Amino acid sequence: MTTTQEATLARLAVAPSGTARLLPTDETAAPRTPRTAAQLRTPAALISDIDAAGLLGRGGGGFPTARKLLAVAQHTHRGRRAAVVVANCCEGDPSSAKDRVLTARSPHLIIDGALAAAAAVGADRIVLAAHRGSSAVAQLTAALSRTHTEIAEIEVCEIPARFVASEASAVVNFVNTGDARPTGKLNPVWKKGIDARPTLVGNAETLAHLGMIASFGPDWYRSVGTAVEPGTTLMTITGAVGRPGVLEVAHGVAITAILRATNAQAAKWALVGGLAGRWVTLHALSRSGFSTTALTEAGAVRGVSSITVLPAEDCVLNETSRILSYLARSGAGQCGPCMFGLPAIAADMAALNNGDHEALRRLRRRLPVIDHRGGCSHPDGAVAMTANALAVLTGPETTHLTEHLEGRRCAPSAKFLPDLHPAAAS
Ligand code: SF4
Repeated sequence: MTTTQEATLARLAVAPSGTARLLPTDETAAPRTPRTAAQLRTPAALISDIDAAGLLGRGGGGFPTARKLLAVAQHTHRGRRAAVVVANCCEGDPSSAKDRVLTARSPHLIIDGALAAAAAVGADRIVLAAHRGSSAVAQLTAALSRTHTEIAEIEVCEIPARFVASEASAVVNFVNTGDARPTGKLNPVWKKGIDARPTLVGNAETLAHLGMIASFGPDWYRSVGTAVEPGTTLMTITGAVGRPGVLEVAHGVAITAILRATNAQAAKWALVGGLAGRWVTLHALSRSGFSTTALTEAGAVRGVSSITVLPAEDCVLNETSRILSYLARSGAGQCGPCMFGLPAIAADMAALNNGDHEALRRLRRRLPVIDHRGGCSHPDGAVAMTANALAVLTGPETTHLTEHLEGRRCAPSAKFLPDLHPAAAS
């Protein structure tokens, strides 16, 4: 390492302390993540650092980031063609605002993370994907204009603002052909993505963490959080809370502390993990910490790291029906499960909501037929959420279900996922 490089590293080695890493406050203003840090490390050392940090993807899948990097890097090496990195800044799930807030507050961290990832996998092109018409486009463009990099091609790409258009293969397909529909699981993008080159599609938050780890190392990253899930995470809390928004918390923080900090109202149920999430009681959540493991033990899923609290006066059945209707409208309409399956279960849930005694039987028959039959996981998420809702409705909420079957009708919630109302969602 040259003296200049050592001096650069020394200047940059001021890591933010505490948990305000991605969303610094005035008091904890994080230093700029160094763009050059990635160039001061070998690709293998960078990937090894990400592995040692234990970074898991934050786009919903929770896949180990180092394994993803390694797969793309090996494929790049074998095929002797430079890879492509996509920073996915599209917020697909209406229950989540974390990537929007990150892009607004710290767009440079996403870009730095994409540059570090490009160094790790051997990419010479970076695509910053944001929903068309969103403020993220201007925020990323402005941050990019302040970025100095040797990467030849780095651009902001506007993706249609639809739910499944931000799925990894849909983003790649859009960049290649202008069609923002998923291309299925048979041709993984890490093998053959943009320009038929190995492509790493990273969620915006994942890349921001990756860039910070490249700068400050795995030990710094692990200095907060739990041993199994180190570091901080962004999470969205909305619904029946006095202070809705996006928080950055250390993994493992007690969910009671999160509910208290956001002034959650007295309520029974929350949808955890997004539209493909699970209904869980606040009581069960209150015994849990915020981590994938603890959420799973509480009967939830991590998903997009959102908690949407259902107001006490609102109804799990009615809101599940509204979510299914939204998911059925959001499919790309190119596979059977999206064309026929989701509209059918959405219609059944609406019928159940309206007191149709046969709808429960139809739903139970249809769900296994749809599961794992789509070209992407969009229908699977809807099926899992529906199965969970049926367990709730025939378990702890069975009295309320009986009331619906006897003619009760609940009004749609005004506070719970208002973006799903047809007028807002169209
Ligand atoms: S399952 Fe739906 S969203 Fe996924 S590829 Fe098929 S049509 Fe598209």
